Amino acid sequence: MKLPDPALLVLVGPSGSGKSTWAAAHYRRDEIVSSDALRGVVGSGPHDLDATADAFDLLERVVAARTGRGLTTVVDTLGTDEARRLGWLASARASGLPTVAVVLDTPDAECRRRNATRDRPVPAATLTGQLERHRALVPRLEHEGWDIVHTVTAAPPAPDPAPAPVTDSTERRTSQGLKVVLQVSRFPWGQDPLGWLTAVARAADEAGFAGLSVMDHLIQIPQVDRAWAPIPEPWVTLGAVAGLGTGLELGTLVTPVTFRAPGITAKAAATLDVLTGGRAFVGVGAGWWDREHAAYGLAFPPAGPRLDELERGIETMRALWAAGTKAYDGSRVSLPETTCYPRPVGELPVIVGGTGRRTLRIAATLGDAANVPSARPALDEHVATLRGLSESVRITVLDLPTIGTDREDAWARVERLRGRTPAAAYAQRTHAGTAADQRDRWGGLVELGVDTVFLGVADLEGAEDVARLAALAT
Ligand code: GDP
Ligand code: MG
Repeated sequence: MKLPDPALLVLVGPSGSGKSTWAAAHYRRDEIVSSDALRGVVGSGPHDLDATADAFDLLERVVAARTGRGLTTVVDTLGTDEARRLGWLASARASGLPTVAVVLDTPDAECRRRNATRDRPVPAATLTGQLERHRALVPRLEHEGWDIVHTVTAAPPAPDPAPAPVTDSTERRTSQGLKVVLQVSRFPWGQDPLGWLTAVARAADEAGFAGLSVMDHLIQIPQVDRAWAPIPEPWVTLGAVAGLGTGLELGTLVTPVTFRAPGITAKAAATLDVLTGGRAFVGVGAGWWDREHAAYGLAFPPAGPRLDELERGIETMRALWAAGTKAYDGSRVSLPETTCYPRPVGELPVIVGGTGRRTLRIAATLGDAANVPSARPALDEHVATLRGLSESVRITVLDLPTIGTDREDAWARVERLRGRTPAAAYAQRTHAGTAADQRDRWGGLVELGVDTVFLGVADLEGAEDVARLAALAT
């Protein structure tokens, strides 16, 4: 169809519907009056929303001047502002110019797809609003008095974009159906912290572990090593691992709410989530070690208030991660706004660590998952408690076995590691044996409904040891 020329043409379509592309294909640059382009003229760039009022002032003047001279004018805006649209229509008519509404009829999904691939996409919620207003407007255009309502239908969709880079987006599970995350609690990294961390993380990734987790302590805990052994800040550490671009899920096991205001943890976790393409998780707990709090000048209130804080912390994080920026008024927390960008890529799982009754209740009611020790029969009781409170809370365990290449090697490790604990007791408590022995035992965990095993070994010295555990990762 041949459109009249000269004419006033008013584009109507949401972001990504192809307005600017269509205009550029059919009209000279000087014939096109674009609100985006004018934002760039009077503001810092086409997306400078602060410049909107100035840009539209200018746009109105250009449209009035051009139509007043009988020149072809293509108005490139969303087209949904009724007062402006009818104003342009009226001034074109006054000059005797034919008027055309050009409707970009592009499927919503295609607008979203194109928007997502732009370097400055409009927020998804904004686009949804635009699409709704657009759909409501189109039928009304017929009655507004345009000489022509011209519909541009979308060209066939572009071919699929190039395949995504080589990171596997599917969840990693073992043949038993478990997710196995390597818990790194010691950092015997000598003179090369980053080299050590890199090698361990890459080895874990190559072995097929689902993820890598770290404790959050300010002083190395006595259960693991001496107080002067390095125990790095977890979010910084995980950020370094994120920089390797592995397929590992990354998170803390666990972050005490007493260390950081929960909004700060929410911010760190959301940042980690975007840096890992949605592979972050947050283990949280009430904290337990008074010494590290005292040493770092942190308050360490009694258990009750700490658990209150755990509840408030989870609620705060979820409020900040949720879509939108509106005020949050929850049962424990009120926030005047919830502006937290970057937003997590997807759901950011909250794993609540601890075995106290109230902690389990918090895990079941506010958490996505509960983390408890793998030792039975206490585990069976915890699972029963959790299942009594929630059918859906995921059950994760911290498992700390002694793993040798064979029985001989396993016992040699027991002897090295046991300290003052009698060998038999240490071997039993840490299930000393081969990887195959651990798998057999894990079969029982699967039967109990355990979803994830956080696997820590006391003698993880470096990447070679990760390879020793590889049989447990897949
Ligand atoms: P506007 O926001 O409505 O002005 O949208 P644009 O005209 O700037 O187009 C948005 C994106 O969609 C750009 O990346 C264009 O290259 C692309 N695009 C526009 N029109 C078409 C089309 O007809 N077919 C395809 N495949 N892509 C298009
Ligand atoms: Mg445009």
